[in-house]
Amino acid sequence: MQVLISGGGIAGNALALGLAARGIRPTVVERAAAPRPGGQAVDLRGQSSAVVERMGLLPAVRERRLHERGMAYVDARRRVYARMPAEMFDGAGPVAELEITRGDLNDVLLTALGDGAEYRYGESIAALHDDGSGVDVTFASGLYGRYDLVVAADGLHSGTRALAFGPEERFATHLGGAMSFFTVPTPADAEPGWFSLHPAVGVAVGIRPDADPATAKAIVTLRAPADPALRGDPAAQRELLRQRLTGVGGHAPEILAALPETPDFYFDELVRVDMPSLSAGRVTLLGDAGYCGSPLTGMGTAMAVVGAYVLCGELTAAPGDIPGALARTERVLAPHLERAKQVPGGGIRAMVPGSKTAVRLARAAAGVMTSRAARPLVRRMFTGADEAAVPVY
Ligand SMILES: Cc1cc2nc3c(=O)[nH]c(=O)nc-3n(C[C@H](O)[C@H](O)[C@H](O)COP(=O)(O)OP(=O)(O)OC[C@H]3O[C@@H](n4cnc5c(N)ncnc54)[C@H](O)[C@@H]3O)c2cc1C
Repeated sequence: MQVLISGGGIAGNALALGLAARGIRPTVVERAAAPRPGGQAVDLRGQSSAVVERMGLLPAVRERRLHERGMAYVDARRRVYARMPAEMFDGAGPVAELEITRGDLNDVLLTALGDGAEYRYGESIAALHDDGSGVDVTFASGLYGRYDLVVAADGLHSGTRALAFGPEERFATHLGGAMSFFTVPTPADAEPGWFSLHPAVGVAVGIRPDADPATAKAIVTLRAPADPALRGDPAAQRELLRQRLTGVGGHAPEILAALPETPDFYFDELVRVDMPSLSAGRVTLLGDAGYCGSPLTGMGTAMAVVGAYVLCGELTAAPGDIPGALARTERVLAPHLERAKQVPGGGIRAMVPGSKTAVRLARAAAGVMTSRAARPLVRRMFTGADEAAVPVY
């Protein structure tokens, strides 16, 4: 089976690893010049941690796991007004039992893969033609190839999805904000192991522990309308952050100081993707390209891993029947996708206060959420209703 994967993020790399383990050597085209570093802690909860274990990755993930002690809400002067220690929710609250930075998880996948796939960095799909028995692909470099299956794992703004399904606007819903993640030197007064969050008017400023104690991950959530001009323009994105973080308090001064030089700046609008179908002929969507729920859900990476495992399992369970495998993948994933797109706690409006009064209300709410009576509710917010089991392939 000749498989082309567009995008070497968590979804694309997890699928490449699964296929390689079953004797299929896929081709991966990644637009960036090298594997993209960066990203803060990602949660591997429930089915995703079971899948990581079945893929044989648990020892490597555990070795690089983060040991977050919990989340602390701080005011503009960095005084803690509420705490959610991890054990308060038995690892089922905002801090999950198994956490690793996105960059480290990507590294774990690529190390396990070795040379099991052909990677072409600085490459992307320019055009494709599906004739029913295969897909002819022209690459941006001018190269050409024919594949049995093309997997679009090229993220929220997937170019491959646009070629096979139509423009992004048809499937995307803007969720009223944007988020940015990047590495900063650990602020001198940061409490080791604690994720500190300062929700201010229009922006929530956070510092999260990194695997290296000398650095931390900045996490900035903004209320912001959709603005296509920001897309693909890191200078404009940084300038927006600079404006919104100025005078906000919390750890904003350290984040602002690190912003111009940070090595792994990431910024994107909060967008949900709803597709009528994950496949069109022999082109199929995987990860954010097919079912992005936005970083607000905390489920994007978990779903990318689960999606890759199921797609790989179905493709290799009945080799030769690609349409059947794609239909079964869609059926198996459906209940997981619905759940993974739910935003805990009411979305951007709850996470980023819109006024000074809302800041005061958010503070009171943080106190309530950490009360003994509310703990089962919070646990449920982050773990959802009973999770369907992913088949074992
Ligand atoms: C650098 C980075 C940091 C992130 N940090 C966080 C975070 O801290 N918290 C969080 O919740 N989520 C973060 N995300 C998003 C998160 O990784 C995804 O929601 C989730 O892991 C699903 O991954 P994905 O592989 O589907 O998409 P992505 O992680 O977006 O990966 C898509 C890959 O495809 C590549 N690509 C894009 N367009 C093309 C194209 N036309 N042709 C070829 N390749 C293309 C991209 O360079 C990228 O490597 C981050 C993503 C990136 C890329």
